[in-house]
Amino acid sequence: MRMDSMMHQGKRRRLVQQLREKGISSESVLAAIQKVPRHLYIDSTFEARAYLDIPIRIAENQTISQPYTVAYQSQLLELEKGMKVLEIGTGSAYQASVLAELGVQVFSIERIRGLYRSAKEILQQRRYHRVQTRYGDGFKGWPESAPFDRIIVTAAAPEIPNELLQQLKIGGILVIPVGKDADNQRLVLLKRTEEDTCVQEDKGPARFVPMLEGKAREFGDKR
Ligand code: SAH
Repeated sequence: MRMDSMMHQGKRRRLVQQLREKGISSESVLAAIQKVPRHLYIDSTFEARAYLDIPIRIAENQTISQPYTVAYQSQLLELEKGMKVLEIGTGSAYQASVLAELGVQVFSIERIRGLYRSAKEILQQRRYHRVQTRYGDGFKGWPESAPFDRIIVTAAAPEIPNELLQQLKIGGILVIPVGKDADNQRLVLLKRTEEDTCVQEDKGPARFVPMLEGKAREFGDKR
């Protein structure tokens, strides 16, 4: 059983300090980063790098986002306790766990079954019972639990998916990386101000794996 030791906690304190220096100012977000043992969300081979501010490869050719990115997206969401938050791209479940530490109710969707399974397992181990997960296509959102106060997308979409917008409350915020190629993405913050009006702000350059349509094809699937 892998542990969360004093050494890990110390490394997290230094990471939190770095995030502060890089401009993350939300005390609640920084406290959540301090609480989640990122080293337990990656393969033990990479454990020594868990508290560097870098993205790290996880299974299925995907990545756990850089801590700065997780903190920045979380901060942009302006969360309040008890809010309903939809996440697209569960991946390692690290971002979902940070959101759970912020006191919100998380609904997270992943299109790769292997990642969905391991995410479910770690969320259970860590007792994040306020995170619900689904194996499916994030482009479709989670209509049964809509509308959401906030939506966070952790893979880059070619454009803002209309179905996600439809599942956002009036007054709600969507944070999403947008861009067709890896070197040319922008993080976009969108507020749905009225039924059919939204305002959009550019929140700087981004670099995410692509958001892909449909569930991932699995070994053995028929074409
Ligand atoms: N939030 C994750 C980041 C994972 S990387 C973390 O904290 O680790 C982005 C993830 O989005 C990948 O796991 C990828 O499989 C997933 N993804 C891409 N397109 C998707 C879609 N249409 N629906 C659901 N998940 C998707």
